[in-house]
Amino acid sequence: MGEVVTRTLTGWGLTMPSTAEVMSVFDADEIAAALADPGIRGVLARGAGRSYGDAAQNGGGLVFDLMGRTSFDIADDGSVIAYAGVVLGDLIPQLLARGRFLPVTPGTRYITVGGAIAADVHGKNHHRDGAFGDHVRWLELITADGTLHHVARDGSFDEQRIFYSTLGGMGLTGVILRACFDTIPSPTSAVCVDTERFNDLDSLMASMVAGDDNYRYSVAWIDGTAKGAKLGRGVLTRGDHAEPAQTSGQKATVVPTGAAPRFASPSIPLSPLNRLTIGLFNEAYFRRAPKNRAGEIQGLTSFFYPLDVLAGWNRVYGPGGFLQYQFAVPDADSDVVRTALERLGAIGAPSFLSVLKRFGPGRLRSPLSFPIQGWTLAIDVPTRVDGLAEVLDDLDELVLAAGGRLYLAKDSRMTPRTLERGYPQLDEFRAVRADLDPRGVFTSDLARRLQL
Ligand SMILES: Cc1cc2nc3c(=O)[nH]c(=O)nc-3n(C[C@H](O)[C@H](O)[C@H](O)COP(=O)(O)OP(=O)(O)OC[C@H]3O[C@@H](n4cnc5c(N)ncnc54)[C@H](O)[C@@H]3O)c2cc1C
Repeated sequence: MGEVVTRTLTGWGLTMPSTAEVMSVFDADEIAAALADPGIRGVLARGAGRSYGDAAQNGGGLVFDLMGRTSFDIADDGSVIAYAGVVLGDLIPQLLARGRFLPVTPGTRYITVGGAIAADVHGKNHHRDGAFGDHVRWLELITADGTLHHVARDGSFDEQRIFYSTLGGMGLTGVILRACFDTIPSPTSAVCVDTERFNDLDSLMASMVAGDDNYRYSVAWIDGTAKGAKLGRGVLTRGDHAEPAQTSGQKATVVPTGAAPRFASPSIPLSPLNRLTIGLFNEAYFRRAPKNRAGEIQGLTSFFYPLDVLAGWNRVYGPGGFLQYQFAVPDADSDVVRTALERLGAIGAPSFLSVLKRFGPGRLRSPLSFPIQGWTLAIDVPTRVDGLAEVLDDLDELVLAAGGRLYLAKDSRMTPRTLERGYPQLDEFRAVRADLDPRGVFTSDLARRLQL
């Protein structure tokens, strides 16, 4: 049996800590043995703890840490077979050496394969390539009775039911032990990027609608502090993996890995981020961006992972921590994006990270997968802002009325009713869970909070 340590765990937002017994596990037998006696507070697998809220916590219960097993193989066709605890950043150098890249990557490379599958993460290419789960061929799942299931995308009806519910299933169908997924070509370790600056939200969104399909990657940073005519002004960066001819003569790009960042953000009892500093940061960031620049060759780190260079940047919000409010709404309801920026701006919620992306079609067969066709806005906000709870409750209503939803991997404040209304296939997920785990062995702080 693996080593067990009592630890207080949080998500990336540093809110809602809870204490659990954390057990390092390496193989299926060890996991099955631990599942034979799960205790009354149940069990949960945790990855790198990069989800923002309480998704990877199980207060008073057992948490499996799978990050000790880091082996993976890359086949000739570029597909990867990796243990769930492998960090995506550790795959990147080996993939690039073969002219390949991750099929989908979130805004940090410090997440695990298990976390990518369980949250069905999306990147800047959802409109083109879908979510991480769209590239998974098969996975191994250990369910509550200790059985190891090999379930494939093209497997039997029963296999597919487990497979698709596990994509986005937030660890509640069982423990993902290993998975096989496809990768995409990346002829160089650089991205060829077009950047445009927009003075208002309408022109930014119109440009995304008109042009995103011409690019593999697209993301807009929005100045979350701009108001009035400048509301929603932002910087749109779009691009694709660079071809060798495009990078010749350019200085070598840095190949990112899963290694720890070189610079650490200060650990401070009081947050230096306030309305003034964030306003100044946003103004400077906006002005620094070129009005229009085409064909810039950027290293993968600066394009995909700009925040990864600063270790522990989540601590700069101070002791109260922060939350990320991320919603998705259908194309027809793009006005919710404007209202969200207006309402959060009106209470002076200081945000230096507001990101707008477009989603392609979602995957209906995965009941808890977040993306739906349309817009997604993610805004970081410190929790200690007057009026924040009321504004977010109001925004929830607008999002739900539009047929939209909130992202479980970022959530720390949803109610059971918000979840039910946002995810109309929730009962399908509950039915799969009831079959696989009738005693409710797999659970989490998030699952208890949302009565999942
Ligand atoms: C800076 C930053 C940027 C981000 N950008 C994006 C983005 O662009 N797009 C996006 O989609 N997300 C984004 N995220 C969120 C992040 O990608 C997800 O929360 C991801 O799930 C984190 O992976 P993890 O390995 O840290 O998992 P954890 O946070 O540890 O766990 C997340 C969930 O996965 C489950 N899980 C983990 N491992 C297993 C396993 N082996 N078996 C079963 N269940 C398991 C856990 O139980 C939990 O429910 C970002 C997060 C940060 C901090």
